[in-house]
Amino acid sequence: MAIKFLVVDDSLTMRRIVINALKSIGYDTVIEAGDGKEAFGKLESEGADFLISDWNMPEMNGLELVKMVRSAGSKSDIPILMVTTRGNKTDVLEAMQARVNNYIIKPFTPQALKEKIDQILKTAPVG
Ligand SMILES: [Mg+2]
Repeated sequence: MAIKFLVVDDSLTMRRIVINALKSIGYDTVIEAGDGKEAFGKLESEGADFLISDWNMPEMNGLELVKMVRSAGSKSDIPILMVTTRGNKTDVLEAMQARVNNYIIKPFTPQALKEKIDQILKTAPVG
């Protein structure tokens, strides 16, 4: 079964980069959203198996999205990878406390993305 990814970023260019990286490592089933609010709606209406989200976004940011998914979503156990430029210790800790599964700092290579996804799938299998 193909893993369905939901890629969330307010930057269209960044969404393209993440989606192209996913395709290059064999993941073709992807939907996308431009902010946390849209992402939460799509997760509820269309569903997804794996969430990859930016942090800094208008409307609802990535951290707020993670908290909402974990507390109020019908997909509260979905694996979540945070993709961000925010790499300082306080931010990483905050993201981990909100129960993201892992964290990747921009810019990254498709190989680094693959490693993070593989790590997550080992501990939080989908489907
Ligand atoms: Mg952003």
